[in-house]
Amino acid sequence: AGSGKFFVGGNWKCNGTKDSITKLVSDLNSAKLETDVDVVVSPPFVYLDQVTASLTGRIEVSGQNSWIGKGGAFTGEISVEQLKDIGCKWVILGHSECRHIIGEDDQFIGKKAAYALNEGLGVIACIGELLEEREAGKTFDVCFQQLKAFADVVPSWDNIVIAYEPVWAIGTGKVATPQQAQEVHVAVRDWLKKNVSEEVASKTRIIYGGSVNGSNCAELAKQEDIDGFLVGGASLKGPEFATIVNSVT
Ligand code: PEP
Repeated sequence: AGSGKFFVGGNWKCNGTKDSITKLVSDLNSAKLETDVDVVVSPPFVYLDQVTASLTGRIEVSGQNSWIGKGGAFTGEISVEQLKDIGCKWVILGHSECRHIIGEDDQFIGKKAAYALNEGLGVIACIGELLEEREAGKTFDVCFQQLKAFADVVPSWDNIVIAYEPVWAIGTGKVATPQQAQEVHVAVRDWLKKNVSEEVASKTRIIYGGSVNGSNCAELAKQEDIDGFLVGGASLKGPEFATIVNSVT
């Protein structure tokens, strides 16, 4: 981990029931979490109210997506204003499942990020390459293009955390090696330095996501440019998620 405050997000995706979420929140509320770590969880929209009402203030809450602008006649969408109204401080944007399963493109994701930031939500901005892109030697190109789509439109970098999530590592149990992750994090930081500013490059947290669990988090957290994690599967288990939060070194 670098010098910025460690950041660990739990992306619950489309999982859970009222009962399982009651248990997860109770486990999180009683977990011992390092004080010097920002901790955020991202429940499915329909359980946001339940979670914000029952989780202690120690952990912040994030939406898993948001609409590109003000709410209105957009069936099935959730607006930034609604997320804020219900107590969210963050939103995850550009997750690989939204890019590759739902089909959201860079421009659409950029619009969402600009709108959310302008309205005062923090953005967890996800980038990452597919397996075939990595094998074709295009990892940096893909990540830089996705990064540029954010950089072109965001009003400021004060409220952005970048999540590097190689698609081949998400939900597959195939975690990137600490060296593979560190290499991309350094490249992302370098891109920010050249294309945004030295200050943004040094202060923006770059977190890793993709099959992080209680056993592999400590090695990853030792890497200088890994400033935290975005965790899917393992964030559904309170004690394991706490282990990941506490892996900061
Ligand atoms: C994610 O959804 O952002 C993620 C990293 O999932 P998992 O930890 O399950 O690979």
